[in-house]
Amino acid sequence: MQDVVEKVYEQVVARNRGEVEFHQAVHEVLESLGPVIAKHPHYAEGALLERIVEPERQIMFRVPWVDDAGQVHVNRGFRIEFNSALGPYKGGLRFHPSVNAGIIKFLGFEQIFKNALTAQGIGGGKGGSDFDPHGRSDAEVMRFCQSFMTELSRHIGPSTDVPAGDIGVGGREVGYMFGQYKRLRNSYDAGVLTGKGLAWGGSLVRTEATGYGAVLFAQSMLSTKGESLEGKKVIVSGAGNVAIYAIEKAQQLGATPITFSDSSGYVVDEAGVDLELLKQVKEVERGRVADYVERRPGARLVTDGSVWDVPGDVALPCATQNELDGDAANTLLRGGCGVVSEGANMPSTPEAVEAFQKAGILFGPGKAANAGGVATSALEMEQNAGRTRWDFATAEAKLTGIMTDIHDSCVAAAEEYGRPGDYVLGANAAGFTRVADVMIAHGIV
Ligand code: NDP
Repeated sequence: MQDVVEKVYEQVVARNRGEVEFHQAVHEVLESLGPVIAKHPHYAEGALLERIVEPERQIMFRVPWVDDAGQVHVNRGFRIEFNSALGPYKGGLRFHPSVNAGIIKFLGFEQIFKNALTAQGIGGGKGGSDFDPHGRSDAEVMRFCQSFMTELSRHIGPSTDVPAGDIGVGGREVGYMFGQYKRLRNSYDAGVLTGKGLAWGGSLVRTEATGYGAVLFAQSMLSTKGESLEGKKVIVSGAGNVAIYAIEKAQQLGATPITFSDSSGYVVDEAGVDLELLKQVKEVERGRVADYVERRPGARLVTDGSVWDVPGDVALPCATQNELDGDAANTLLRGGCGVVSEGANMPSTPEAVEAFQKAGILFGPGKAANAGGVATSALEMEQNAGRTRWDFATAEAKLTGIMTDIHDSCVAAAEEYGRPGDYVLGANAAGFTRVADVMIAHGIV
């Protein structure tokens, strides 16, 4: 890391004590910027780097709610409005017990560059709560979402800040939050949230977009070597929104996904995942991966070890941050893995990324590979603003075009800064320069 960049990183660590995921995300971006700043020193002037690592606004609030037994609970809510140079803050809400300020800050920071890569005029933000929806009734989830939105509604709006889903927040939660927002504001601002239901302003392909996008990114990376996903064995982690639709698109492109996982273990189904059964278990019944194994002869549940112990040609980490460490990366490499496309945000630890890059395999970092979700959210905003609705084929064609453009921007930036094929450098450099140029144009704000 260059001296100038190292100093900024040290300040981030000192100012945001204990927020290790945020430190990690900042380090990964700053580390890539050496060649960019060497070529364009003005990016290190005017405290630009110091400004880009500091959120514009951080909101933290109490979320009291009452469970079905009448007991009162208090959770903590967050919204980090990180950077609005390119447009209204945009990024999901995560409901998971591990959520804290550092996790939301890391996600918000990543979101700035991811959103810049989509070239759709959206700034970066993220939010959530340490609420755990697992095992809660619909009525409890609704009361929590209403309480959460009662505070959040003061800070968001179609031109200000537009949240969406993430871990633990899907169509049900977005629905309850939208209902509460509408009641509080007495205004049908469809563009205030994305990931909405199709009957009330949602976009076709939004549900599928992140998983589809991560697979399309893998396909684009493979095409640079004259290869494709056809016939490849795919290792997927997670069993939520991103994992399910990554499996779907991989199957459509002729690959065979054989695994998925949740926090209780992972499933290996050598015959290829039965997607209809997986959707039934996870989307309809909100069950566990074990429920799939009970109904699927030949599939097995493994509750120790890691899904990355299973050999395959392509790995799609689609669960959560730091789920794939250096040892897991080396195991995957020994098993013949030649492509990793991150559906989740920062799922590979720095040691894992280093191992993949050293081995020279195709590695697509999350901020590029999983940008299809937010890109389709921006398409949802576009449809809401025009009071129109595109059919599935139109929305999917736009998603495919955006993913191809993101891939090509990463390739071009990696070449420009002297490291062809380095998608980490390419994504960080392309995303950073787009945001930085506009921040410079806006002056010191
Ligand atoms: P979901 O809540 O739909 O699914 C998350 C899945 O990952 C579940 O199977 C969950 O298992 C598993 N998981 C979560 N945390 C852990 C953990 N600590 N250990 C083991 N397994 C875990 O979330 P999404 O699919 O929407 O999100 C997955 C990832 O993709 C996240 O990193 C998210 O930030 C990222 N992402 C999502 C986008 C979207 O559009 N949804 C857009 C871009 C990125 P369990 O149920 O047991 O907790």
